[in-house]
Amino acid sequence: MTDLADLTLLEAATALRSGDVSSRELTQACLERIEALEPKIHAFLSLTPDLALKQAEDADRRLSEWRKESVDPPPLTWGIPMAIKDVLCIEGVPTTCGSRILEGFRPPYTATSVERLISSGAVVLGKTNTDEFAMGSSTENSAYGPTLNPWDLTRVPGGSSGGSAASVAANVCYAALGTDTGGSVRQPASFCGVTGIKTSYGRVSRYGLIAYGSSLDTVGALAHSAADLLPIFHVISGHDPLDSTSMPEPVPNIALDDTDLTGLRIGVPKEYFIEGMQGEVETAVQEAVRVLESLGAVAREISLPHTDLALPVYYIIAPAEASANLARYDAVRYGPRIEAEDLRGQYFATRGALFGQEVKRRIMLGTYALSAGYYDAYYGQAQKVRTLIKDDFESAFKEVDLIACPVAPTTAFRIGEHSEDPLSMYLEDVFTLPANLAGVPGIAFPIGFDTDRLPIGMQLNAPHLGEAILFKTTYAYQEATSWHKERPSL
Ligand code: GLN
Repeated sequence: MTDLADLTLLEAATALRSGDVSSRELTQACLERIEALEPKIHAFLSLTPDLALKQAEDADRRLSEWRKESVDPPPLTWGIPMAIKDVLCIEGVPTTCGSRILEGFRPPYTATSVERLISSGAVVLGKTNTDEFAMGSSTENSAYGPTLNPWDLTRVPGGSSGGSAASVAANVCYAALGTDTGGSVRQPASFCGVTGIKTSYGRVSRYGLIAYGSSLDTVGALAHSAADLLPIFHVISGHDPLDSTSMPEPVPNIALDDTDLTGLRIGVPKEYFIEGMQGEVETAVQEAVRVLESLGAVAREISLPHTDLALPVYYIIAPAEASANLARYDAVRYGPRIEAEDLRGQYFATRGALFGQEVKRRIMLGTYALSAGYYDAYYGQAQKVRTLIKDDFESAFKEVDLIACPVAPTTAFRIGEHSEDPLSMYLEDVFTLPANLAGVPGIAFPIGFDTDRLPIGMQLNAPHLGEAILFKTTYAYQEATSWHKERPSL
């Protein structure tokens, strides 16, 4: 018999509905796998086995009632064990954002996205590792040590949702929530050979997501395929009165039943094929575009002329917003405190000791960019250029239905490879940042391997609130290929 943890989300959901397995059995299979693999990959910052088993039992009870009453089937998320990135609050469950400054913090409320998942029957296994406050591209910035890539334990899983991506890749859960401010769902999905959806800005409530860059932050999810992700997307999306930036537009009911892409217009931006990128990534993306063409799509080169400005603009706007958002960690309201002579001394001592290097770097960059005399030159200017980047996407989407491009210039790099050089780390995000600046959705999914057998991913972007086309196109690709079925040998 195959290990239950090896099932995909949809296979597990089908087995649950038919009564072949119970949620308790699925949950136990995941917990056992976590126990076996955590010493190798370190995907979790905390586990919630008691909560998980209780949720599983509740789910089983409802499932058997449903079967007896033969009423409408429950949502596909019902009884499915999942992992949650440790930047999303769950009432009473430790939430650290990968930072010492929130060690021991147990939020008094649950994030809307998680609340909706739990209400739809999902089982929460634990909180996954992340770069501190989601600042990073490798999960090496976690104060609790890095997560390792299940495909090669000497490599990073990507970041900042590296724990979520690694836990899906290692089959210790059926899906995981992540967040994406500049690429943090898509890039780790690509590095770990899984599928990850970054939703449109405003599609999923940010209530209970601990803020990094408020105008860029989005909640997303990771699983093995678009078909596995879709039920989660349906559950977590939609307006939330607790988040004034969440969109009132109804969430479309997306059906994945058609793999014919006839008439789909795909744009491949020439600015996304840059000097220095790994040749195998470029070749694999071109090959994946050919697969989409063989399904009926028409691809052509397009231009997003301001692409090269996305990186400098992001590294003004994101740190600026972060510096404001992180001001609340004042050693008074949350987490541990390092006492000093006076209040000011207490701020300095606590923030100096308990924030990591990268977080402090961003706070300094952001504070500088926002300070009187520099605001117009940096922040104001960056906002204007952000509009140009958004306009690039809007003009492109007048001519094509979606954009196909690489996720990152390379496959998973070695632990430590970029740690000493923040700029080289920031460059890992060149292809993912523009979507966050423009607020548009993106999906990343596996399209092959490099010669070291490291997964390669491709990204699709669609107009704002255009997730349906991302799911449908990825589904068509995944019905025609089997890259998403490959698993690491651990
Ligand atoms: N790597 C980018 C950063 O460090 C993006 C991170 C994210 O999306 N949370 O800001």
